[in-house]
Amino acid sequence: MKATSRMFLLAAAAALAASGVCAQSRSAPVTTPRIYIFDNGAITGLNPGLFNFTPDELAEVDFVNTSYLIVHPQGTLMFEAGAVADSRFLAGGGEVTEGVMSATKPLRPQLAAAGYAPSDITYFALSHYHSDHTANANDFAEAIWIVQRAERDFMFADDPEGIVQPASYHALRDAETKILDNEDFDVFGDGTVVVLAAPGHTPGHQVVAVELANAGTVVLGGDLYHYPEERTTGRVPTFEFDAEQSRASRRKIEQYLQDNDATLWIEHDIATHAALPKAPAYVD
Ligand SMILES: [Zn+2]
Repeated sequence: MKATSRMFLLAAAAALAASGVCAQSRSAPVTTPRIYIFDNGAITGLNPGLFNFTPDELAEVDFVNTSYLIVHPQGTLMFEAGAVADSRFLAGGGEVTEGVMSATKPLRPQLAAAGYAPSDITYFALSHYHSDHTANANDFAEAIWIVQRAERDFMFADDPEGIVQPASYHALRDAETKILDNEDFDVFGDGTVVVLAAPGHTPGHQVVAVELANAGTVVLGGDLYHYPEERTTGRVPTFEFDAEQSRASRRKIEQYLQDNDATLWIEHDIATHAALPKAPAYVD
């Protein structure tokens, strides 16, 4: 238990100031799952042509970067690890820019505001290996890493090519690992937090469904889509590992959403996340 009572008080005060939603330290166990959302900055200056769109076809061209902590009565699942490593932030604060990516908030303080340190996390998962999702992955190597075999094989290939920064996740090589063979995984065994295989964007891309008592079922969609307009037009990005696989995964997840009356959170979508509370507030 590393959260100090002072940290708890700060988190609680911030949450109360935010929206009347309460923050709660992990020292007070939850009775139903909740999701904390972390702000990991933005991607600006993207060429929408990479996604088979012209700028005027999109409501928003830019991305937000997000990561999530799912807290369940039996443990926690950290999903995604941010786009800019905490080590890149200066002590005095301020915005950090790395190419098209920028961020103003490191991840650890946001996690701490929710009452957690990386060493407290039970499970860790990435939607996929692209570097805008892996920046702080090494911090979670003490957790049990949930990964599809095809994704892990690519990540630890001799010379992985593409949007990938192996140094950001090398510590996962030795993590305790739950390897999945293109399959779904019920993380806590009660059906409320389920990793769903959704390959195509990368060989072992995956998303996470969370059944919440008040907000209903939410699917954290990774990069199954980047823009809401992909969902309505059926277009896929130009740089998919396997576009046909992506289309099949979209059909699978759309069916899941329908069957479970679930809401999809497109992780890079500005509008989706503008409407959601950020940690230490949460959705439950
Ligand atoms: Zn991404």
